[in-house]
Amino acid sequence: MPELRKDPVTDRWVIISTDRRKRPSDFRSEFATLIGREHCPFCPGQEAMTPPEVLAFRDNGSAPNTPGWTLRVVPNKYPALQVEGTLDRQGEGLFDRMNGIGAHEVFIETPDHQKTMATMSEEEIERVLWAYRERVIDLKRDQRFRCILVFKNHGGAAGATLEHAHSQLIALPIVPDFVREEIDGARRHFEAKERCVFCDIVRQEVSAGRRVIHENAEVVALAPYAPRFPFETWLLPRSHGSRFEDAPQAQYQGLARMLKWVFVRINRALEEPPYNLIVHTAPFSNGVSEFYHWHVEIIPKLTRTAGFEWGSGFYINPTSPEEAAEVLRGVSVPA
Ligand SMILES: [Zn+2]
Ligand SMILES: [Zn+2]
Ligand SMILES: [Zn+2]
Repeated sequence: MPELRKDPVTDRWVIISTDRRKRPSDFRSEFATLIGREHCPFCPGQEAMTPPEVLAFRDNGSAPNTPGWTLRVVPNKYPALQVEGTLDRQGEGLFDRMNGIGAHEVFIETPDHQKTMATMSEEEIERVLWAYRERVIDLKRDQRFRCILVFKNHGGAAGATLEHAHSQLIALPIVPDFVREEIDGARRHFEAKERCVFCDIVRQEVSAGRRVIHENAEVVALAPYAPRFPFETWLLPRSHGSRFEDAPQAQYQGLARMLKWVFVRINRALEEPPYNLIVHTAPFSNGVSEFYHWHVEIIPKLTRTAGFEWGSGFYINPTSPEEAAEVLRGVSVPA
């Protein structure tokens, strides 16, 4: 059973998951070879290689766990957390722990082994977003969970072990650090100004324009003012909403269109880099809806985090956001 432990100084929770050592690719090299098409458990016909699906989109009435799907969601075969059991919160002197309860699921975004977010159609990307929504809404009913993270590691250097396009979801009984930091900051801004900081960012950046990468009717893509990484990109809905899963349909459409636009440019400008994509959405507790604003962050993996950065916790970014936005705006794409 994995375990959640809280650091008594920083209140940071970590997952101690010794079972994950069994993962064949772990501890070999930092950039293990990706599992390619020959042994791909996500290709149609290989459904028996994954745990049984928890959701699938099928246009042709095909049976569960057989080919014929356009998108499939399955539990992670090597979960970081375990879904059955009770939290069993305990204190031991200074220390807090609980069982590592959580859901860890994988979205197989397309049956086509070759496709990526840059080559999928906008409709195919939108379908992925609807699948995220369905799973979040379902897992939210589980009283043990407080927060859901949806993310995507693309490419070996970004932590993926499989080539086939997929994303992941983790439902947690705790609120992770980066979510807590954003919530706290957004709350402080709201208490001082009675406005959402993300709405303010969208307004100011759109009127200034320098760091805007692209806009459509629903979503604005921008290089944030103080990015941690080169070409870090945020996709923010123009209208306020705290939860991804409550977004109106038009926002999914707009986000799908924006994801396609951005990944086509990132691939051309940066030669198909590995990347991480993370959906930032409010935890389940009430009372954050006015000041938190869901969004998507994309972090291309262009630099290896150097020793200084790991040691100091301080990011050094060699590319200014103004330059990154200009580069991506300027990419020419053949019609
Ligand atoms: Zn495949
Ligand atoms: Zn807002
Ligand atoms: Zn964020």
